[in-house]
Amino acid sequence: MDFSLTNLSVVKASGGETPVKVLILGTGPAGLAAALYAARAELAPVVLTGMEHGGQVSLTYTVENYPGFPDGIGGQEMVEKFQQQAEKFGARIEYDTAVEVDLSQRPFRIKTYNTTYLADSLIVTTGATPLHLQVPGETRLTGRGVSYCATCDGYFFKEKQVIVVGGGDSALEEGLFLTRFADSVTLVHRRDSLRAGAVLQKRAFDNPKMRFIWDSVVDEVLGEESVRGVTLRNLKTGEKTELATDGVFIFIGHTPNTQLFEGKLEMEPGGYIVTDRLMRTTIPGVFAAGEAADPHYRQVITSAGMGAAAAIQANHFLDGQE
Ligand code: NAP
Repeated sequence: MDFSLTNLSVVKASGGETPVKVLILGTGPAGLAAALYAARAELAPVVLTGMEHGGQVSLTYTVENYPGFPDGIGGQEMVEKFQQQAEKFGARIEYDTAVEVDLSQRPFRIKTYNTTYLADSLIVTTGATPLHLQVPGETRLTGRGVSYCATCDGYFFKEKQVIVVGGGDSALEEGLFLTRFADSVTLVHRRDSLRAGAVLQKRAFDNPKMRFIWDSVVDEVLGEESVRGVTLRNLKTGEKTELATDGVFIFIGHTPNTQLFEGKLEMEPGGYIVTDRLMRTTIPGVFAAGEAADPHYRQVITSAGMGAAAAIQANHFLDGQE
């Protein structure tokens, strides 16, 4: 089988099977950094986008903490640049999603909507998804005032009142972004101090459109066709109040997109894939990087770094097999 770059990175085998040296699942920073490194090692990686090409950063308005961009860079633009750079060296991005994996023997069999990949090595960079509050009204009103992405939906809330749930970096960053559109952004947090970093906290406290409700949780999202308010419960007093609002933006953390690997790769409680310092999972030849394997840092730079490391290790692994 010829895997040279001049022969493109994918060789279709008979029976809808596609052999690859390195298959990468996910096109967030971890996946695209892995793709760049694997491509430069002439491994002709194939990268599957999954359902969310670009991952969470592509929905981020601006990234201000990635070195090399002192004025910040748009999340979408950053992903495009990552992709261009990986493709320039021979990575191939496929708009396809893995639906079934068999890691019991090599090559690993990864079934997608379009084909079955026979992968000599696999890098899992499937990222994470925002957590839901799991309160009445939330699911029914998602897309009708309930949102998990200010960059996507903020524009619909021009001159409206919105609430943001959560006290971490995401809640503050997204809440501050919403002040561009909304008349007021009320942050509802379950404690009386924020988890977010000092810079974001200062910006939020200094912003005249930001308000804060402490020690409180949302018990219900109210509205028929669209959100009209929330029921809040003060955790210290138990008191329940209704707050009128047009939008509810929820940023209370994430869960890793690793369901496909349940029972196949060792995971931490919470579903994060266990890796060693060399990004190796419990199965030789399978590596994991980025938020699928990282409950701690969850930064573009750390995910990209882990992706690069995973590709370097995949290259060593494949060298050792020859
Ligand atoms: P996070 O740091 O886990 O914060 C989640 C927030 O939601 C916490 O304030 C938590 O409250 C609250 N929360 C959790 N479950 C809740 C529930 N059921 N009801 C009400 N509130 C709930 O998540 P994140 O803000 O998405 O950030 C994740 C990681 O990404 C962090 O490491 C963060 O530093 C990083 N990040 C960085 C940037 C940046 O550097 N610009 C931007 C975004 C994210 P408690 O505080 O009481 O636990």
